[in-house]
Amino acid sequence: MDLFSYRNGELFAEDVPVRAIVEQAGTPCYIYSRGTIESHYDRLVEAFAPIDPLVCYSVKSCANLSILRTLGQRGAGMDVVSGGELFRARAAGVEATRCVYAGVGKTDEEIVYAIREGLGSNDVGLFNCESEQEFENIARLARLENMVVRVALRINPDVDPKTHRYTTTGKKESKFGVDLERARRFFERFGRDPYAKLVGLHLHIGSPVYTVEPYREAMAKTAALVETLAADGFAIRSIDLGGGFGADYESLQSPTLQEYANAILPIAKPLFDRGIRFILEPGRTIVANAGILVLKVLYTKTSGEKRFVICDAGMNALLRPSHYGSFHFIWPVAPGESMVPVRRTPDPQLPGTVPQDVVGPLCETGDFLALDRMLPANLERGDLLAVFTAGAYGMSMASRYNSSPLPAEILVTGSTVEIVRARETFDTIIEHELAPRRLVIASDAGTMIASNAGHLEPIE
Ligand SMILES: *Cc1c(COP(=O)(O)O)cnc(C)c1O
Repeated sequence: MDLFSYRNGELFAEDVPVRAIVEQAGTPCYIYSRGTIESHYDRLVEAFAPIDPLVCYSVKSCANLSILRTLGQRGAGMDVVSGGELFRARAAGVEATRCVYAGVGKTDEEIVYAIREGLGSNDVGLFNCESEQEFENIARLARLENMVVRVALRINPDVDPKTHRYTTTGKKESKFGVDLERARRFFERFGRDPYAKLVGLHLHIGSPVYTVEPYREAMAKTAALVETLAADGFAIRSIDLGGGFGADYESLQSPTLQEYANAILPIAKPLFDRGIRFILEPGRTIVANAGILVLKVLYTKTSGEKRFVICDAGMNALLRPSHYGSFHFIWPVAPGESMVPVRRTPDPQLPGTVPQDVVGPLCETGDFLALDRMLPANLERGDLLAVFTAGAYGMSMASRYNSSPLPAEILVTGSTVEIVRARETFDTIIEHELAPRRLVIASDAGTMIASNAGHLEPIE
């Protein structure tokens, strides 16, 4: 599952005591294990070897450059959903030709940037297009740039991944992609465009998907669509199955990568044998268990029956519990040998635990990391807590709410520790506000100046 383990009653990240890292790096901080990232990636590649997929890591799950570089060097491409993410992938040394680009709201500037970087210029990386208007826009911009780009159509196979409604993306009523009937008309209408070559199908049904059945169902519908399109005269050259494979927020919660592969391969392999190329876009399954968030207990407090553990970060550092109601296992960094949890569950069944709310310092009732969680009753000021399985959608969703500096990020490789993102300072929080600038606005009423207060004032 991961390389965070207790030795002699103390938490280690690979071969380094977490306490020793935090003494230098401070809290809150994210600590990632490179060994875990690499072994998850390798296991995925192995499980899907029969269809030799290009694994495009989902940048939005954890976008730190050192993590992108780690995966890029291992052979991964990148799944990007914005110009900013493509910029990160390029900065980490990943060619744009190994990137796929999804997202319902690509701007003209982002599309042109991606085209100029070479995204879609060969059969590997593609634009994953989400609507008719977007396709027309990509084709128009490719033509203006005098480039031919490859495009996959994001289809919406209408399967229920049985996950949180915010992360269900492949049902008919979601904003993503086009439904199967519309897909056929889409190819009729755009399948012969000379500048945007419609060569692939893309799907991403949701995240996390804890059973393999939705993948089997989505794959079967996709295979049927490939046949229908072939009969209509359109040859599909690539299928991108998206991401959504689970992670172990609780011990042994997720199917193994081999189990996902076993569900998908029987339908995918015959298509692969006919020359169709496969792409996967995993994020969570690679990085979630590869990261922890370390917090310091600032205060404890009892209010009526309730006991609160107030930490130095909350939803600003890790939004998932508050936003999705997600479970993250939380346990002291140095609980002592008799209090080492065997399984990561809401109640690890250890003596001396009582239900407590783990909350952050922000001025919001929603600012919590766990409610009524069984934790040692003797937690006190200065104790360190580890929030597990925080590598995915942790730092990448962190905010500066309440002017909180973003946490530091640390990457551990065996016994080597690197700070891969410096902790923000108060200075970095205000840097873009230090020099307000007047804008000159032309209007029918004469040239106007937008004052710093936001209203328009006429000038001479
Ligand atoms: C978010 C996303 C992914 C990654 O999902 P995970 O659950 O992290 O694997 C893949 N593809 C697309 C299009 C996404 O939006």
